[in-house]
Amino acid sequence: MSSVTVVGAGVFGASTARELARRGWDVTLVEQYTPGTVLSGSGGDTRLSRTAHGGVEWYTNLSWRARTLWLELQQQTGTRIWEPVGVAWFARRPDGFEAQSREVLERAGIPCDWLSPDEARKLYPSLATDDLEAVLFEPEAGVMYARRATQLLVEDGVREGVRLKGGRVTPGDDPRSDIVVWACGSWLPQFFPELLDMRISRRDVFFFAADSTWSGTPGFCDYDVAFYGHGEIAGLGSKIAPDFSHYELDPDTVERLPLPEFERAARDYAALRFPALADAPIVGSRVCQYDLTGDTHFVFGQHPERESWWLLGGGSGHGFKHGPALGEYVADCLDGRCAAESFHALGARTGDAGLRTAAID
Ligand SMILES: Cc1cc2nc3c(=O)[nH]c(=O)nc-3n(C[C@H](O)[C@H](O)[C@H](O)COP(=O)(O)OP(=O)(O)OC[C@H]3O[C@@H](n4cnc5c(N)ncnc54)[C@H](O)[C@@H]3O)c2cc1C
Repeated sequence: MSSVTVVGAGVFGASTARELARRGWDVTLVEQYTPGTVLSGSGGDTRLSRTAHGGVEWYTNLSWRARTLWLELQQQTGTRIWEPVGVAWFARRPDGFEAQSREVLERAGIPCDWLSPDEARKLYPSLATDDLEAVLFEPEAGVMYARRATQLLVEDGVREGVRLKGGRVTPGDDPRSDIVVWACGSWLPQFFPELLDMRISRRDVFFFAADSTWSGTPGFCDYDVAFYGHGEIAGLGSKIAPDFSHYELDPDTVERLPLPEFERAARDYAALRFPALADAPIVGSRVCQYDLTGDTHFVFGQHPERESWWLLGGGSGHGFKHGPALGEYVADCLDGRCAAESFHALGARTGDAGLRTAAID
C-alpha cells in the first residue's frame, strides 16, 4: 500500500486525502489549526458554486462533476451543505465572460438561461438593470456552507481511514511517506517562494440584513466590476463582496476586522444593484485571503528536486466549489492514470485567465 502525507486540511487537502483513502492509500492528513478554520480560504461561511468559467472548459467540467459529488456527500451524511438557489451573472456586454460561458455551458449540456433585464428583475425583490445587456442564469448552481462542507470532507475521510493529526509540518520535517502533498493554501508560498507565482491577497466580505423576501434568491457575480455575493442564506444576511484589493497579508497574524474602504465599496454596490438594500445595516463581515496565482489557474505539480513532493494550491478565489472533483484529479495523477495539466505547472505564469472576476489585483 502506498503512503501519503497531505499537509493542510482545507478543501484541497481534505478532498485529496479522502479520495486517496477511498482508493486504498495509507493517508495521514495534518492540520495546524482546525479543519475549516476561519483563517483558511475554506473556512468562509458561504461560497458560490457555479459552472460558468468563460471559455475555459476544464473548470466548467470539473465544477459540474464536483456538484454531483457535493450533493452525494450531503445525501450520504444527512448534513446540509448546499442551497440550490442558482447563480446569476450580470452581463454588461453581449460578448463578455457571460456570453463565452453560455457557449461552453450549452455545448456541455449544462442548464443555463439567457435572461433579458426585464426577466432578470423577477429573480430578486429589488434589482437595478439599467446598465445590463442580459443576465446569464445557472439554475443548477448554488451556495455552499463552506466551513461545514470542509469539516464534513475531513470527517468522511476519517471514516474512510484517513489519520488526522494536529500540528504544523514544514519541509524541514521531511515527512516520511511515499508521497507528500503540500496543500497549504495561503501558507504555501512561505515554504516554496521560488517555485510559485502567487500573492496572498486580502478580501473583505459583508453581510447585509435582508428580510424574508431575499430568502432563496440566487447568488450573483458582476464579473466586469468585480462584485459577487448572494441573497439571504441561513440567517447570515445577504452577502456583498468587492473582489479587489491591493493589500497582501500574513494569514497567521492579520487582525480580521474589515476596512472602511471595502465597506464603502460594498454599500455603494448595494445601492447601485439592489436598491432596497442601500440602507440595510451590516450584520456581519469576514476578512479572508486569496492565494492568487498570476493567471488564476490552480497549481498542481511536482517539486523539481523532490519527486515525491507535490505542491497543490493557488485556488485564486475560485477553488472551493471544485473540492471533491479536484481530489479525484489529483488522485488520478498520483495513481499514474493521467498527467497533471500544463496550466497547473509550478513557476511563472503569464496572462490572466480571469477565472473569478475581472479583478486582477
Ligand atoms: C473571501 C473569499 C471568497 C471566496 N469565494 C469563493 C467562491 O464563491 N467560490 C469558490 O469556489 N471559491 C471561493 N473562494 C476560494 C476558495 O475558498 C479557496 O480557493 C479554497 O478554499 C482554498 O482551499 P485550500 O485547501 O487550497 O486552502 P485553505 O482553505 O487555505 O486551506 C489550507 C489549510 O492548510 C493548513 N496549513 C497550512 N500550512 C500548514 C502546515 N505547514 N502544516 C499544517 N497545516 C497547514 C491551513 O491551516 C489551512 O487549514 C473564496 C475565497 C475567499 C478568501
